[in-house]
Amino acid sequence: MQIFLNDRLVDESEAMVSVFDHGFLYGDGVYETMRAYEGVVFSLDEHLGRLGRSASLIRMQIPGRKFIAGAVYETIRANGLSNAYVRVTLSRGKGPIGLDPALCKKPTLVIIAELFKPYPVKLYQDGVFLVISPVIRNHVRAINPMIKSLNFLNNILAKADAIDRGAYEAIMLNTEDNIAEGTVCNIFFVKDGSVCTPSVDAGILDGITREIVISLARKSGLPVHEGLFSPADILSATEVFFTNTTAEVMPVSRVDDTAYAVGSVSQKLRKLYQAEVRHYVHLFRDSQKEID
Ligand code: PLP
Repeated sequence: MQIFLNDRLVDESEAMVSVFDHGFLYGDGVYETMRAYEGVVFSLDEHLGRLGRSASLIRMQIPGRKFIAGAVYETIRANGLSNAYVRVTLSRGKGPIGLDPALCKKPTLVIIAELFKPYPVKLYQDGVFLVISPVIRNHVRAINPMIKSLNFLNNILAKADAIDRGAYEAIMLNTEDNIAEGTVCNIFFVKDGSVCTPSVDAGILDGITREIVISLARKSGLPVHEGLFSPADILSATEVFFTNTTAEVMPVSRVDDTAYAVGSVSQKLRKLYQAEVRHYVHLFRDSQKEID
C-alpha cells in the first residue's frame, strides 16, 4: 500500500512517524474520513473545509486545500482504487515533550486510502442496535465536538461500553442530558412526521452527511426539526437512524429496550442520499472532461 506522508507517496513499510510526534504523545491533531465512489471523492470541498476549521480551532496551520486535495487523489490512484475509504490525518508534528504547540514546527500529514469495504446489506435491512451511553460527550468548552480531533478517547470509551452491552453504536448525551451524537455518527429520529436531529448547539460534530440529509429531507417536503432533545424523545419516536460518511444513512432497530421498524423515512432518505452521490460523481466527471 502507498501512503502519502508529508510531501510524497511512500511504501507502507516506510510510512513512519516519530515517537516525538505530538499526535502520538498527546492526541494533538485533526483528521477527516472521506469516501470515494468510482474514483471521485464525495464532498471533498466540504471535508477539506471542515479540516481547515478543525485545525484553526486547535490553532494549527496546515497545508493549503489544493495541496491536500491533490495528495488525496494521488494516494487513491497510486493504490489503484476506485471505491475507497480515505483518511487524512494532520498531527501537530514532531517536537520536544511539552504541551506548547509552538514546540512543533511543522504538522505531519498522513493520507491512507484503502479499498472501501461495504457494510453488510443485512444491517441496512434489519437496522442496528444502539444504547444510550453512560459516557457524556465532551462539553463544548472542554474539547469542542466541532473539532474532528485525534483526541478520540471520549468516543472510544462510549464505544467500548456499547460493545460490552452487545450494541453496534452508542448514543452520547451532553452535560445537560440532551442527545448529542453517536461515537462516529449523527443521530436522527422521526416523530409526529418530522425528521428530528440534535442541533449543533447540542455539542456535536457538524456532520457532512447530516447536512446533506437535512437538505434532502427539506427538499423532499419532509419537515425537519433541529433542536435539543431528551432520551424520552428518541424512545417515543417511530423511526431512528444515524448518518456518517461511510455508512451513509443507517436504520436503527433498537435503542436500549425500545424497538423500531426500519421505516419509510430512513429508506427514502438513504435512496435520496445515494442519488445525490451519483449526481455528484457525474458532475465531477463532466467537469473533468471539460478540463481535458
Ligand atoms: N459525529 C462524530 C463524532 C463523528 O466522528 C462523525 C464521523 O466520523 C460524524 C458525527 C459524522 O460526520 P460525517 O457525516 O461528516 O462523516
